[in-house]
Amino acid sequence: MAHSFIEPEPTPLALLLLGHGSDSDTEPGVVCPGDLPAPSDPGLVERARAAKAALGDRVFILGHHYQRDEVIEFADVTGDSFKLAQQAAAHPEADFIVFEGVHFMAESADILTGEHQQVVLPDLAAGCSMADMASIEQVEECWRVLEEVGIADTTIPITYMNSSAAIKAFTGRHGGAVCTSSNAERSLTWAFEQGEKVLFLPDQHLGRNTAVRDLGLSLADCVLYNPLKPRGGLTDQELRDARVILWRGHCSVHGRFTPDCVDEVRERVPGVTVIVHPECAFEVVEKADVVGSTEKIIATIDAAEPGTAWAVGTELNLVKRLATRHPDKEIVYLDRTVCFCSTMNRIDLPHLVWALESLLDGTVPNRITVDAETAHWAKVALDRMLALPGPSSTRD
Ligand code: SF4
Repeated sequence: MAHSFIEPEPTPLALLLLGHGSDSDTEPGVVCPGDLPAPSDPGLVERARAAKAALGDRVFILGHHYQRDEVIEFADVTGDSFKLAQQAAAHPEADFIVFEGVHFMAESADILTGEHQQVVLPDLAAGCSMADMASIEQVEECWRVLEEVGIADTTIPITYMNSSAAIKAFTGRHGGAVCTSSNAERSLTWAFEQGEKVLFLPDQHLGRNTAVRDLGLSLADCVLYNPLKPRGGLTDQELRDARVILWRGHCSVHGRFTPDCVDEVRERVPGVTVIVHPECAFEVVEKADVVGSTEKIIATIDAAEPGTAWAVGTELNLVKRLATRHPDKEIVYLDRTVCFCSTMNRIDLPHLVWALESLLDGTVPNRITVDAETAHWAKVALDRMLALPGPSSTRD
């Protein structure tokens, strides 16, 4: 029987935070308290420039590839989440790290930076729907089920970078490691050297794509643990038989792409090469020509011959930027319906100006902190990833 790994219904917590209200179950959870300048203020670019210049080396601005152009312009460095966290750690002279990204990334930066450095997220509503799909309470409950079934001792948790600090800490406490989309294969291989099974959090697609396409396991070796159902919706026997227990989480942006999108773009753009991120569903990745992390997508298209055509299955801000950067290549979005990551898009110029001017006035707005215990165990899981054998690429 053919399985579909494309999510049929919206996720409960996805994309709900648009700056109003609060939900303590979500990763970021709260409103932006700022007194924001009006988006129509014609002086915003100049105000951002002036505040950044006045702060000088005291501020270091990190910009994720999925961010809007209007704020990327002010980033000191751009990259994926792990590269940006490393960059934050590499700039101890900066008192303030302003993160143009989402909440879990700012947490990782706080874990990896020094005591004297403060990490600022210009809009606290910039969460990540995928990270929100695994709360620490749900993951602890899942672990209790695995203990009752008698398989916790032989199960190694692996969590994707795109998870809260609490989930990373859980992973560290239970002998597991963090992974990125570039080193997921090495992380899973390492995990199977430590134990018999893997609990993969929170992105089912990256876990399944890696287990089946890279490690040669079968789809039947993977089971899907649904945290919204009692005991994950799985029988004890299904859990005992599984090699990989996939958490039922996904990215609401990459999860939109379907096999039909691939068929349609091949008809629409003759000779097109389809390149997708491994957060896309298994059947989409199977139909694509190239699969790779954000950094691999950028490097592949940068290196492509002029005149070539590319359909890109990742976040739209990045695809648009690639198209602008390479007018000699045809670069199209994989889906006919355009879709930004709405939470990444929360960080706009008014929020950036407000954050920088607040720092200049002596107030640290929207500081992201991780408590010492959580930070310790999360760092254990991050360090295990860094110690993995093989190429040094850890790009997400
Ligand atoms: S693109 Fe997907 S994984 Fe990345 S921040 Fe947005 S929802 Fe999360």
